[in-house]
Amino acid sequence: MENEFENTGREDTTRGKMKIVRGIDLDEVLVNFVPHFLDYVQPIIGKMVYTDELKSYNFWEHGVGKDREEAVNLVDGFFESGLARALSVTDGAQEAVRDFLEEGEVFVVTARPWRYSRETNYLIKKNFPGLEGRIIYSSDFHGGEKTKSEICTEIGAIYFYEDNIRYAKECARNVKNVYLFDRPWNQEAVNGNIIRVKGWRDILRRENES
Ligand SMILES: [Mg+2]
Repeated sequence: MENEFENTGREDTTRGKMKIVRGIDLDEVLVNFVPHFLDYVQPIIGKMVYTDELKSYNFWEHGVGKDREEAVNLVDGFFESGLARALSVTDGAQEAVRDFLEEGEVFVVTARPWRYSRETNYLIKKNFPGLEGRIIYSSDFHGGEKTKSEICTEIGAIYFYEDNIRYAKECARNVKNVYLFDRPWNQEAVNGNIIRVKGWRDILRRENES
């Protein structure tokens, strides 16, 4: 891939070259959390809710838990069950990460709370060699201290990959290229340096063409 943002990358002092730094969201970008979680909750809530029905990430607005607290408890239960270790990987994600690691630095920037770090480390180690120890928890949904946007600035990201429209917009103020993964819960129009994509295949094709 051509490095068109050479001058905005971080300096790699070992080789005197600029490195491309990328931040990548975890859930629904690298791995499929939502469909696995919805399968898990079906017998608990007594109905099947489908990924396509979720018009926001607030599960309780779609009958998954009666309120935020109950929804968070359901997610906790999912992580405690061990099923979170078996999430499937999104199509093309492993190939993309391999390419990106050859070009520069990659960080996983997730809003998961720290209490899921054991399951998260396991999942990354198993599916994304080279990303172990490169996971940063914003956890602002759960009262964490740093936003994804602040984290992106700190790591010097020039590319960021996300499915949550609020995070995408916040990060787009500090990150040159933000890719928004098209999902039912992010259907608002985006513009400027936010590019809506179908998935990794779409991104790899675009980057190879550029
Ligand atoms: Mg996500």
